[in-house]
Amino acid sequence: MDLSLLIGTFEEMEKTTSRISLTGNLVDLFKNTPGEIIDKVVYLIQGKLAPDYESLELGLAEKMALRAIAYSSGSSLSSVEKAYHLTGDIGDAAGQIMKSRNQTTLHSDPMTVERVFSTLEKIAKTAGPGSQESKLRLLSSILNDTEPRESRYIMKFVMGTLRLGIADFTVMDALALAFTGSKSNRTLLERAYNVTSDLGTIATTLAKQGLESIKSLQIVLFKPVRPMLAERVTTTEDALERMDGHGLAEYKLDGERIQVHKDSNNVELFTRRLDRITHHFPDIVQSVKSLSVNEAIMEGEVVAIDISTGAYLPFQLLMRRRRKHGINEAMENYPVVINFFDLLYVNGNDTTSMPLSKRRALLEDIINNDTRIKKSSLQTAKSRSDEARTISENDGSDISVRQQNKNGDDYHNRMKLVPQANVTEPLQVEKFMAAAIENGCEGLMVKHPNSAYRAGAREFAWVKLKREYRSELADTLDLVVVGALYGRGRRVGKYGALLLAAYDTKADQFRSTTKVGTGFTDESLGQFFKDLERHIIPHKHPRVDTGMKMDVWFEPEMVIEIIASEITLSPAHTAGINSLKEGFGLALRFPKFTGKIRDDKKPEDATAVGELITMYKQQSRSSK
Ligand code: ATP
Repeated sequence: MDLSLLIGTFEEMEKTTSRISLTGNLVDLFKNTPGEIIDKVVYLIQGKLAPDYESLELGLAEKMALRAIAYSSGSSLSSVEKAYHLTGDIGDAAGQIMKSRNQTTLHSDPMTVERVFSTLEKIAKTAGPGSQESKLRLLSSILNDTEPRESRYIMKFVMGTLRLGIADFTVMDALALAFTGSKSNRTLLERAYNVTSDLGTIATTLAKQGLESIKSLQIVLFKPVRPMLAERVTTTEDALERMDGHGLAEYKLDGERIQVHKDSNNVELFTRRLDRITHHFPDIVQSVKSLSVNEAIMEGEVVAIDISTGAYLPFQLLMRRRRKHGINEAMENYPVVINFFDLLYVNGNDTTSMPLSKRRALLEDIINNDTRIKKSSLQTAKSRSDEARTISENDGSDISVRQQNKNGDDYHNRMKLVPQANVTEPLQVEKFMAAAIENGCEGLMVKHPNSAYRAGAREFAWVKLKREYRSELADTLDLVVVGALYGRGRRVGKYGALLLAAYDTKADQFRSTTKVGTGFTDESLGQFFKDLERHIIPHKHPRVDTGMKMDVWFEPEMVIEIIASEITLSPAHTAGINSLKEGFGLALRFPKFTGKIRDDKKPEDATAVGELITMYKQQSRSSK
């Protein structure tokens, strides 16, 4: 495929912020893309070389990228650096510099997407001593043979600044339109995406085999499944009602959600964002390897613990395990436990459509290394588990909780089951909640015993019930940083306030809901300034909707946690605009940063506009 076809599309897309036009550009591109290469084209559009879980990074230092441009253009390194300094973007600098080189491309054949992709792949896979020099040579080999406008985009891609403003949803819309003629088929693509997390494979399957094959795409070991999520409720009565009167209550631990994939040789760990983080938790990998089950996909919450008491420790301590170097030392200093709560796959069987009570029973067998996990136990496990967790029916005070491994209270064993109890009465829920809070949890998850595991869905089959914060909103919000104002006084040289947005699921837009300037320490402000730098864009992002004027705009990437006292109607913000009152959106009163950056969340996982509306209504009801 001629590279100029792809580059031409990128150029068109750069000119517009309208989602309809962007989708139209992609539809045209997909229609002209051969089925053999459509997966690669989809990855390139997403700014990657493979799905996230492959963790395939180019790993090319900025200095090397500048040297590659100098080398291929025959210019001096200092003139390339100067162009970079002036434009602020290596891609733009490459475009300019390559234009001024005296020879035209050495190659007379047009450059192909295949060649660019395979060279980039080689760059990513080159590692070890001297690899930076080899990467440089590989990169130069394509820059030598491309037109300046093509070099510009190749360098943007290499440096991660190819900001096309395209969400996965838009790619799916375009695929559905290009290959089925109807956007409504996106829901089928979405289901396939939720179980495989790989848009490239979906595009290839659709282009080559059609929609029927998309319907039969299944869970595959070592490809992460998009997690099932919970709705929030504020009262125990509401929680029970959502469960048709009988729920499975579980501790809501404040840690990091991990999806564990295991076969007889390997264990891999994935975050909720579907990134592979196996190397951060060698202790968990070791523990999981000791399980006798051949193949499994399980989910659990990793929490830092006090090794001497087994008590759960705050989320911030767990985050110290998220580092590139010194993993062994961190493992010693910040021990963790994984608390399993779900099972998605076992020994060749997809378990997601089984009722939760049955999945839990199978999970218990696995964690207790019960060798009965054979075909027969896939059918019989339910009854055993129900029996074990029955609650005395008299006053609800006697909640029998299954939690311990059979191996007893061995804190060196890094695997536990999340404490769980059957609940049918509000009092039982309240007591279990009190126990959860006492044990350092955020609250409870209450789940429907008959519910299937619905990958990627946020539904009332799982609800979260958090501890009430007095005079504050009952829950924290996770919002996306989309803009900032420069600081004054003590905050000169940093940001004084950040503009935050909630996610509008239907429109696939980030709509502003507050400006936050409190809750930051001097240190955290400095860190924000640094971390946000790579997300700066020259204008408001096409997926951001706000009436606010900002000094700086960011691509919607970073998610932070906010607590506020109240949600109010606002003419200035656009979250929920017109849904409660014509011309008004929703804003937060007294917003404050809690200190938590939610890098486990993608921007699309931020608090949804719909959730804000529900919270506003609940708050108005309870104040009456
Ligand atoms: P929050 O921001 O309130 O922590 P969230 O937005 O991260 O929630 P939700 O789907 O709303 O995600 O809540 C589920 C999250 O709670 C899970 O992603 C997981 O990390 C965590 N969790 C803790 N304990 C459990 C449990 N027993 N079952 C399921 N999830 C749990």
